[in-house]
Amino acid sequence: MCEVSMNIEHIKKVDPVVAEQIEKEFERQQNTIELIASENITSEAVMEACGSVLTNKYAEGKPHKRFYNGCDHVDVIEEIAQKRACELFHMDHANVQPHSGAQANMAVFMAVLKPGDKVLGMDLSNGGHLSHGSPVNFSGLYFDVKSYGVDEYGNIDYENVRKMALEHKPKLIICGASNYSKIIDFKKFREIADEVGAYLLADIAHIAGLVAAGLHPSPAGYAQFVTTTTHKSLRGPRGGITMCDEEFAQIIDKAVFPGMQGGPLEHIIAGKAVALLEASKPEFKAYAEQILKNAKALAQGLMDEGMDIVGGMTENHLMTLDLRKTGKTGKDMANVLERVGITANKNTVPDDPQSPFVTSGIRLGVPAVTTRGFKEDDMTEVAKIIASAIFSSDNELGLHNLRERSLKLCKKYPIYMRIGG
Ligand SMILES: *Cc1c(COP(=O)(O)O)cnc(C)c1O
Repeated sequence: MCEVSMNIEHIKKVDPVVAEQIEKEFERQQNTIELIASENITSEAVMEACGSVLTNKYAEGKPHKRFYNGCDHVDVIEEIAQKRACELFHMDHANVQPHSGAQANMAVFMAVLKPGDKVLGMDLSNGGHLSHGSPVNFSGLYFDVKSYGVDEYGNIDYENVRKMALEHKPKLIICGASNYSKIIDFKKFREIADEVGAYLLADIAHIAGLVAAGLHPSPAGYAQFVTTTTHKSLRGPRGGITMCDEEFAQIIDKAVFPGMQGGPLEHIIAGKAVALLEASKPEFKAYAEQILKNAKALAQGLMDEGMDIVGGMTENHLMTLDLRKTGKTGKDMANVLERVGITANKNTVPDDPQSPFVTSGIRLGVPAVTTRGFKEDDMTEVAKIIASAIFSSDNELGLHNLRERSLKLCKKYPIYMRIGG
């Protein structure tokens, strides 16, 4: 056991089984290179907020309009979180209660749509999110969804989005993605939405940290609705936020509660408040700048090693390796990467010949390793480890040596050094 770890003394006493798994998970995080693009390593301050007495409090309703007494302090905290979200993302109104990104989107659906209404969103297998209209999600089950995709170069074909919008006349258009490595043109999306009288929802779950730092164009002023997760590049606790223009504030708040959620998680809302403050600081801007540098270094390193990347050079924090020419699958190679101490997820590539469970791609993102302190040189080493692991995935001794190399990088940049150490 690492001598530095989160303080879980009480769990150890009460529930050693769970405590053991938390410790093991801490070690796993400490000793693996996290390239899952949607993950990050939140601060000690955020974690303290999330583990605080606020978890004891019921606070259904909005600040100063609660259904429970004793809400003076959570009211202050929630209002601070709202204000910080509005300032950081330049939006009129923020509801910080959604429990997750999917809920943040659901609130917009509930606020402006009736079941059966038409929605135009990005296809899941092309980089969209489940909650943008996948047939297995509420968004696809209860609404009439048409999906747009990307072209062979991995770019959104805006002319095609426009054509589909004109043909289907959706009431809501969704932009924003879980796996898209290019800048999103919010202005173009708004023009298309205006042309057909649709609302625009920009889901910035992945790029929120870059938007907050001014390193990706903001959807403010273009999208009437902006949703985000707080735990991805924004580096806060696991949760969501729904933001909107002033005129929609009431219907969004009603959609969140009582529409689709019960009591808010005030401990997580406190974590969101802390994270939003952190994200407004110059240090966070430097962090976001390093994300972009690291992503470029990783993509360049992989291409130098002879690997293909969907759409070539990334413009944000993530990229998808295209394994088609190697004859290997995303599923198998994600498992091989795990064996060498790198966590990533399999992902479809455009026109993937494999099923979504197998895939021909692997999605890689750098927000978590950038938080650890990785710089461009380290990303070049990571690229070499990934390429070697994939090209010689049958070489046991080789994989063992690669595991040693990734471990060395992890030791160079430990996480949560200051806690209990
Ligand atoms: C991650 C993500 C979500 C959902 O977030 P959860 O917190 O997992 O519900 C929604 N939209 C996009 C674009 C995402 O990437």
